[in-house]
Amino acid sequence: MTKRSVIIYLSLIFALLALVAGWYIASFLNREADSVSFDSSRAYADVQTQVAFGPRIPGSTGHAQVQEWMRAELESAGWQVEVHESERLGHPIFNIIAKRNAEPPQIILGAHYDTRMIADHDPDPAKQTEPVPGANDGASGVAILLELARSLPVDTVPVWLVFFDTEDNGRIEGWDWILGSRAFAEEIPINPRAVVIVDMIGDADLNIYLEKNSNVAIRTEIWNTAASLGYDNVFINEEKYSMLDDHTPFLEKNIPAVDIIDFDYPYWHTTQDTPDKVSAESLHAVGDTLWHWVVNGQ
Ligand SMILES: [Zn+2]
Repeated sequence: MTKRSVIIYLSLIFALLALVAGWYIASFLNREADSVSFDSSRAYADVQTQVAFGPRIPGSTGHAQVQEWMRAELESAGWQVEVHESERLGHPIFNIIAKRNAEPPQIILGAHYDTRMIADHDPDPAKQTEPVPGANDGASGVAILLELARSLPVDTVPVWLVFFDTEDNGRIEGWDWILGSRAFAEEIPINPRAVVIVDMIGDADLNIYLEKNSNVAIRTEIWNTAASLGYDNVFINEEKYSMLDDHTPFLEKNIPAVDIIDFDYPYWHTTQDTPDKVSAESLHAVGDTLWHWVVNGQ
């Protein structure tokens, strides 16, 4: 070998080593990102699991099953689960609270886990007394919270995940909307920086407009986070609806609260609110946005 060919030979070996090292580091970084980021296929499976329990009407078998399942999922993700029991209009209420430690929460993320007992918006009058399957209206918000429980790093600001009961039976004799969140806001002493509700955020055709009653500073933070991640086609920077939802009781107590909701859902309160109307991509846009908003907001 000439001196020149030795140099070529050595530099080829060096280049090959650099390539292997680079590939190894890249795959390691990818694995790191995968292990901590929001996994929308798991979230979509959570929607299917909930709908498979049947309707989650307060007092039903499906309602009891979803409670037990949420507890198991949260505990296996390392969260402590407490049940806030109360009663409104004679109906028992079981709000499920998940926390990682005893610190007071700076952020509360909430979703309702119950489903509406009647599909009174169904286009077929014969189906208007049937229950709502609640794939989007109920299961999608719970799925987001459960996947955040699995994927949020342990060292974020103190977060509570709250699964509200008895949200969805308004305009039915003897019931009202948002009974669970109202009981929670009235009975649990909290002073968080923000309460963020997710409701009906799984629609495959997802368009989330700014909700008019929501706290402006917090909703701006969340919409900015979404835009920075490329979800500005989903989080539309315009106001549209004014909602009565689980954020309302917190706003009434002057706690900054935001409702993340896509109210343009043709299957709302119908028997057609089934998992095929929900997509993993939509769950990902919302879950990924909230993941980054929580992780970066400290
Ligand atoms: Zn509803």
